[in-house]
Amino acid sequence: MENVIIIGTGCAGLTAAIYSARANLNPLVIEGSQPGGQLTTTTTVENFPGFPEGIDGSMLVMAMKQQAEKFGSRFQYTQVTDFEPKSGYISVKLDDTWVDTRTLIIASGATARYLGLDGEKELVGHGLTSCATCDGAFYRNVPVCVVGGGDSAAEEAVFLTRFASKVYLIHRRDALRASKIMADRVLANPKIEPIWDTVLTDYRRDEKGEMRAVGLRNLKTGEERELEVACVFVAIGHVPNTSPFVGKLDMDENGYLKPLERTLTNVPGVFAAGDVADHVYRQAITAAGMGCAASLDAERYLADLEPHS
Ligand code: NAP
Repeated sequence: MENVIIIGTGCAGLTAAIYSARANLNPLVIEGSQPGGQLTTTTTVENFPGFPEGIDGSMLVMAMKQQAEKFGSRFQYTQVTDFEPKSGYISVKLDDTWVDTRTLIIASGATARYLGLDGEKELVGHGLTSCATCDGAFYRNVPVCVVGGGDSAAEEAVFLTRFASKVYLIHRRDALRASKIMADRVLANPKIEPIWDTVLTDYRRDEKGEMRAVGLRNLKTGEERELEVACVFVAIGHVPNTSPFVGKLDMDENGYLKPLERTLTNVPGVFAAGDVADHVYRQAITAAGMGCAASLDAERYLADLEPHS
């Protein structure tokens, strides 16, 4: 029987691991399909406190992992495939093996959706990103585009006007899905030019492999054209990594875990931290904070299980 299993090695999972290990809980940390989480897909992180010169995203999570290992966290490269709350404990299926644990911290994150166009994977970090907060400041005085029509796209487009010379907002419909206040803000901003009823057909690189332009197709007229942009910000939603917990843990309509209070889910002993339970802030530092809180909540839950003298 494990004391605590932590699912995920992004900022939330690794912070939970540091705290749990320092509390002598000997945590078992599951790496999952994207070890290091979303920070590994960014370049320099300039907004994580403590690094005035910025820090490479992968280096930041590697340092967190070292810190967690230093205090005795154990790491396992497996996938969580199933989950079963039992009476007084939890069973988790790691690949094909069921493992029992007194507490479970779910920090499995969310995966940004991309468009599925050719060469997408290689372009991430080279003019293709899903995070304006992370990468917007690298694109000063150059044209960029945002793809999507929801609140994320609207928020990113407005944010990017601080840096870019022009922000094209490319949406496949003729109206935004975003809330009225966000949509109004977008439409009133002279630096944002919406391009309606339009989809991207392909990414076009320069000789160094960086984004140079995108191909566009108007869905109503069929017209195709090229649009020069230095970066494409894809904001077509995230998918929370919650499939093993469907039907067993409370979720909102988009599949994000919905804690009852703080990090506590509806199953005793199961805690949620980071982007898997947060579609609002989605920052490395907020995820780390939630990881810390989940570990403290798990620690208190375990202390309450001990017989009182
Ligand atoms: P979303 O509301 O699901 O919007 C996704 C957008 O991407 C939609 O406009 C959709 O187009 C478009 N899209 C989806 N797949 C596409 C594809 N393959 N090609 C082109 N376009 C595609 O996602 P979100 O904006 O990330 O928001 C998620 C949730 O978080 C929402 O509930 C939102 O309100 C909330 N949120 C809130 C805030 C805030 O309050 N400040 C900020 C961000 C997010 P269609 O319109 O055609 O479906």
